[in-house]
Amino acid sequence: MAINFAEKDINAIKQLLSTPKNIVVTTHHRPDGDAIGSSLGLYHYLLPGKHKVTVVTPSDFPDFLHWMEGVDKIIDFGSNAAEAIRVTAEADLIFCLDFNQLNRLDKYEPYVSKSKATKILIDHHLDPDKIFDYTFSFTEACSTCELIYLFIEALGDKSKITKPMAECIYTGIMTDTNSFRYASMKPSTHRIIASLMEAGAENFRIHENVYDNFSEDRLRLLGYCISEKMKVLPEFRAAYISLSKEELSRFNFQAGDTEGVVNYALSIKGIKLAALFMDRDGEIKISLRSKDEFSVKEMANKHFEGGGHRNASGGRSSESLQQTVDRFVSILPSYKEELSK
Ligand code: 5GP
Ligand code: MN
Repeated sequence: MAINFAEKDINAIKQLLSTPKNIVVTTHHRPDGDAIGSSLGLYHYLLPGKHKVTVVTPSDFPDFLHWMEGVDKIIDFGSNAAEAIRVTAEADLIFCLDFNQLNRLDKYEPYVSKSKATKILIDHHLDPDKIFDYTFSFTEACSTCELIYLFIEALGDKSKITKPMAECIYTGIMTDTNSFRYASMKPSTHRIIASLMEAGAENFRIHENVYDNFSEDRLRLLGYCISEKMKVLPEFRAAYISLSKEELSRFNFQAGDTEGVVNYALSIKGIKLAALFMDRDGEIKISLRSKDEFSVKEMANKHFEGGGHRNASGGRSSESLQQTVDRFVSILPSYKEELSK
């Protein structure tokens, strides 16, 4: 199904952007490539001219995203709450990108909730909150970055896509599709990638910046996860990895260091469900991945206070690491039939 932005809403946005505005662009807690790529892509689009535009992130983000142009202008609520609160209080418009429930803003949430600004959602997750003034929610999009491209196109400004915008948008499409390999990658998305390359995005450099930028500690942690920590449960076609606080600190854990680790568990022949559990920031952070029809979104929703997409979801638990892992293992029998399909 083609993604169509309603003409009425696009006209209303054009109207809003026709006069100078204070604009905040924000995204979810612990931003990933799609979150930062879409936020900075939109930032570069909105910036030239009359508006005052600020990207606010609820927390910091991995080092391998720090090469993107505009990163130095981002206000991180985690390290500069006062400035984030100030720009949010002054905002006329708030763009909410790559999340659809305000609780994903974590401690930054109350400031966006109480703001009187017009709130515009652009996102590709299921079940958006109904609190936005404009909702551009398309679950068939592979990424929010794909939607930013289509949003700019719908505004009639495709020709204004500059190299920095193209690089940011390329990055989110690349990271959310695991380098263009998921079922969410459509022929039309490949055409968008082609036009981003024509606009100056250097594919090889972006891949290198994001994927060939490991610290030695990060690569050794990956090796440790696979050789020492991965448990495979063939009877449930499942595999999981768990990491304690001590293990994370042994490898000098930095934000983003476990990005992609869960996918290795899913790459074992026959495995349909993979999970990663990490004891981080006073709670257990859970990443779930699946193949085919098996919905980890449903599992994250029901058991781990989370959500996401059918094949890639996340959640949390306030139990101990061992209790969380035990609970995960204990619910597997109830999914056995679905997992054996
Ligand atoms: P990751 O495992 O990479 O952190 O997240 C995978 C997917 O699940 C992403 O699309 C992310 O947006 C979503 N996700 C991760 N954690 C949460 C959560 O706590 N709540 C919800 N609703 N979605 C999450
Ligand atoms: Mn995304």
